[in-house]
Amino acid sequence: MQDKPHIVWLRRDLRLADNPALTGACASGAPVAIVYIFDEDEPFAPGGAAKWWLHHSLRALDEALDDIGASLTLRRGSAKSVLTDLAAEIGAGAVHWNRRYAPSQIAVDKEIKETLADRGIETTSYNGALLREPWELKTGAGGHFKVFTPFWKNLRAAGPARAKSEKPPKKISQPKIKPKSDRLESWALTPSNPNWAEEFPNIWTPGEAGASEKLDAFLSADVSRYDDERNRPDLDTTSRLSPHLAFGEVSPLQVWEKTHSAIDNGARADSAATFLSEIAWREFSYLLLYHYDGLNSIPIKPAFESFPWRGDKADLRAWTRGQTGYPIVDAGMRQLWRTGWMHNRVRMIVASFLVKHLLLPWQEGEKWFWDTLVDADPASNAASWQWTAGCGADAAPYFRIFNPITQGEKFDPDGAYTRLYVPEVSGLPNKYLQKPWDAPEKFTRHAGVTLGENYPGPLVDHPKARVRALDAFEHTKKK
Ligand code: FAD
Repeated sequence: MQDKPHIVWLRRDLRLADNPALTGACASGAPVAIVYIFDEDEPFAPGGAAKWWLHHSLRALDEALDDIGASLTLRRGSAKSVLTDLAAEIGAGAVHWNRRYAPSQIAVDKEIKETLADRGIETTSYNGALLREPWELKTGAGGHFKVFTPFWKNLRAAGPARAKSEKPPKKISQPKIKPKSDRLESWALTPSNPNWAEEFPNIWTPGEAGASEKLDAFLSADVSRYDDERNRPDLDTTSRLSPHLAFGEVSPLQVWEKTHSAIDNGARADSAATFLSEIAWREFSYLLLYHYDGLNSIPIKPAFESFPWRGDKADLRAWTRGQTGYPIVDAGMRQLWRTGWMHNRVRMIVASFLVKHLLLPWQEGEKWFWDTLVDADPASNAASWQWTAGCGADAAPYFRIFNPITQGEKFDPDGAYTRLYVPEVSGLPNKYLQKPWDAPEKFTRHAGVTLGENYPGPLVDHPKARVRALDAFEHTKKK
């Protein structure tokens, strides 16, 4: 087996360091071919913003592999046929990959494993994406966790499954027959509308080096302020690691280790622990993805299957375009469109507005986020939407309805975030910034705001929308 090449099939693990599948293949001593397969028909194929990320991440990975004498093979099509063809072409004896956790993805991987086994090719899978596998930690009764706090307590006590992260390979020997590769450009992953995503390169550096820089910068500067400031979109104190984690350019184990080193070097331990608890929310989301088939479309709480959602296309469009007339909601939706990312507090506000104020299905929001977020993640996106809609495990209760006016006032107290993304209302004093319809005429005139002309009036009236949402919830409870 030693002389037969091994294949590493990369998915959302686009890194060289702490990549157990890559380490496993290199440890065999055989030549190693590294392949990324793009299949637009596979479950959780990337949306528009994630495709932009993928393009740049693959380019960065190719350069990093080139530096150690290896290359990245790019192929398009169904993974099963690509892998069987590639294995035959280079005479491969084994394939390695890091695991995925959605039941639909597991089914694909299982079928591939069987097909390869029929051809005498060994497959080995690893945990490269999580601190603990979703089936590892159990409640006292022996089941999986359904509530976050005890899950986090358990995970914190257990620590990561692997004791230490792995170093990147220094050199990778290539198979004698060099596999043919697609040209990355031929996949046309970058958006056809060049205006969308034009700001992305100023904000993001996809790839392992970019991930490492971002983590180091966060841990040396912001982690001690994280606990106090993480809910403030205007302060931008969070790590912005999410797309790097979503594409596996950094592993949660690396984040865990470096955060503990930062604590040893004087970072505030309580604040760093809050940061790690967010990494644990990612783990918890993966646990839900694994245990609930169809997490991105089927409510965990079955009563929500009969929820009387509205189907108003115009309201949905206004929400996606940041034209609801509620400045904090519009700021969030425009930040998403312009940067491919949105601050977590604002994600919660806009998601709540969609499902409670507009009574539109959470699945529509999940789809829009999937297409526009650079960090779109099969587990975190679906689990967070279920959480907001009140139908998830350990979800925010449906009857707790965010008031978008007071949320904006509380978390963007000086209005800097709102003014950045909604310049139409930027001239209003803070008192009216989150409710322009209440501003006396002298202020709107001075600020140049004409509701219904250069900025929409509110799409719904908050008190009435609140009552309507609670009525709809009562209907669900009766079912
Ligand atoms: P930090 O605050 O610096 O947190 C560090 C890391 O922890 C993040 O990078 C992320 O990997 C993880 N994390 C933080 N909060 C959460 C959370 N609530 N749930 C799961 N993981 C978390 N996150 C995604 O990575 N992809 C998504 O597709 C996604 N969709 C979301 C949809 C909705 C409706 C909501 C409310 C939240 C969603 N989140 C998603 C979670 C969260 O908003 C982002 O992870 C966070 O804003 C990313 O910014 P950051 O990297 O600066 O986070």
